Amino acid sequence: MDKALEKLFQPIGVLRKVGEKRIRAYEKLGIKRPYDLLFYFPRTYIDFSAPVSVLEVDSGEYACVKGTIIKKMHGVTSQKGIPVYKAIVKDYKVNFTVAVYSLYTFEQLLEGEEYCFYGKVFTNGRLNKEMHSPYIIKADSGYIMKAVYPLTTGLTVGMISANIKETLDIYDETPFETLPFSIREKYSLIYLPTALHEIHFPDNKERFEQAKRRFTFEQLLVIMLGMSTLRYRSRSKTPFVMHDAGISELTERFPFTLTEGQRQAVIDICGDMCGEVPMNRLLQGDVGSGKTAVATCACFFAYKNGFQSVIMSPTEILAYQTYKTLSDWLEPLGVKVALLTGSTKTKERNILRKGIADGEISVVVGTHALFQKDIEYKNLALVITDEQHRFGVSQRTALADKSKLPHKLVMSATPIPRTMSLMIYGDLDISVIRELPKGRIPIETYAVTSKLRERAYGFVRNRLNEGRQAYIVCPLVNETEKSEKEEWQAVVAYTEKIRKGAFKGYKVEYLHGKMKTIEKEEIMDRFKRGEINILVSTTVVEVGVDVPNAVVMIVENAERFGLSQLHQLRGRVGRGSEKSYCILITDNPSDETRERMRTISRTTNGFEIAEADLKLRGPGDFFGSRQHGLPPIKLIDNSINEEIMIQARECADMIMKTDPALSSDEYGIIKSEVAKLFEGAGENSLN
Ligand code: ADP
Ligand code: MG
Repeated sequence: MDKALEKLFQPIGVLRKVGEKRIRAYEKLGIKRPYDLLFYFPRTYIDFSAPVSVLEVDSGEYACVKGTIIKKMHGVTSQKGIPVYKAIVKDYKVNFTVAVYSLYTFEQLLEGEEYCFYGKVFTNGRLNKEMHSPYIIKADSGYIMKAVYPLTTGLTVGMISANIKETLDIYDETPFETLPFSIREKYSLIYLPTALHEIHFPDNKERFEQAKRRFTFEQLLVIMLGMSTLRYRSRSKTPFVMHDAGISELTERFPFTLTEGQRQAVIDICGDMCGEVPMNRLLQGDVGSGKTAVATCACFFAYKNGFQSVIMSPTEILAYQTYKTLSDWLEPLGVKVALLTGSTKTKERNILRKGIADGEISVVVGTHALFQKDIEYKNLALVITDEQHRFGVSQRTALADKSKLPHKLVMSATPIPRTMSLMIYGDLDISVIRELPKGRIPIETYAVTSKLRERAYGFVRNRLNEGRQAYIVCPLVNETEKSEKEEWQAVVAYTEKIRKGAFKGYKVEYLHGKMKTIEKEEIMDRFKRGEINILVSTTVVEVGVDVPNAVVMIVENAERFGLSQLHQLRGRVGRGSEKSYCILITDNPSDETRERMRTISRTTNGFEIAEADLKLRGPGDFFGSRQHGLPPIKLIDNSINEEIMIQARECADMIMKTDPALSSDEYGIIKSEVAKLFEGAGENSLN
């Protein structure tokens, strides 16, 4: 490595003015070497390219104003003991005052010189406007925008800018490129040195836009290659090749006919399992679209081929319910179904282990416990994970190791905007169930304030008197009470209150995460049998619970939930042929809450809600690995759009076709970036 390049990979302390304190601050941002700093992208920019006159700026607003210093005031005024230095500035319409707190900054300003000032404008007295501690650059500096970086204590934008400037100088001595020329040419991506300069120190709008596009493309490409690599690795042949087998015995037993979407999904899945390459498929369908029936068909198909299947659920409650459903449908056909979770008793567990090992049990439903070390399957050919958004990409990869190349089906109820699914599920084939079973009446949703709570209770009582059931979802009592303990205490207290009050004489029970599994199962069973009128619960009912006779849900403190979560919650009602209602109670008057409540009341279409959620929260938030298990992406300024995602996808596909192992030298840096994505994914991390 030559000297300049070497310097980029030394500890960050090699840069000027970076001492112990700053090293520690940088470390907090994940920056250890000058190289990391090069790719530390700005959070946003101050735009100097379209200055206005202060006359046009309302008090309290931020603006960029270009003006000449007419006079620097002598003497120091003081605000609450802090010295303030002032100057009179003339923009193209009026004079105004600029106030700065730093003597150093003040001394740099010259009378007669023109500057751009960016800051908050106040009205001082009757007409005079004043700008407080603005960001200032010389009008002829050539910069049109100023990068603003995410900060941490001990770092200012000025410090970061200076360190990046020095790093860029080092980089310029031996510039390198991370993308092969052919790709840059095909997708018109500008050269890395230009892009780096422009992203940190923009001096040309057009080039700046190109720089943003390039880095967005590059990051998307890395993620998509990561996903494709996962898929490529599972391209080896599976020992579980199946043959066509009729499953009409099962479908005839269903108390309904499959919807077109369900039918097509079953065809896709069975088709995949007849192939030599293991299935790697996502089944996407809104809450209530009937994914369990599809999964049951898949298990039955595997059974007819003499193979075992498992269905893994994210929670014990859900595992238990799925188990109930599957055993109801499959046991009469002679298929042995078992339930295996973390709380299965040792004695029972030993019996199950034996049945699983000798193949007597064909379908096992459970939680992560399905894959404990001592559980050995005779011939596990199909692994289904339910509600997969709860597992995330790294778990998805970890699962693959547990059996010898089984077929994999992941089921998700989270409708994902098209642009996003390209990325999140790049490693999967997709079947989508678009329609809900016929006869479902859309859920009616109302958002109300707590003043109407009594009326909502009255409405619920009416439904109960008709023999129906209800949910009340009850989150925390107040913002500061975040512990789980307080959460269940809130649920218990709420239950006691309504038992004595509004719902005296009704059977009210509660459910929360801290209860023992057996207690939860008992409550769910009784609710399902109709022995409980109202179930008060935390969000544990969010996923998968299926009680068609429950036709009304009240959500307390609805503002605490995101759109997608509300949609999931609401999906617990409207599961039968009866009209269902959802009442959202919130006293939060913020615009964002109102917008969320409006959206959720207006539509029950999961895809539409997902799009709205994306718009409200922005793609940056969407990419939080918390939600979807995606690696974090450093998006610059909303630069992501559908077109660029499609291009990056196409490019990733092309690379996977020609060099799936990324072995060519020109992919060196990309390959290491891809590997970094899945660090921590255990044995499955790429190397
Ligand atoms: P999800 O996709 O949310 O997991 P479920 O599999 O729990 O949905 O199904 C929701 C309800 O719809 C269940 O009560 C199920 O029996 C019923 N169901 C499934 N498919 C159909 C269908 N084709 N017609 C009518 N009801 C159906
Ligand atoms: Mg489900």
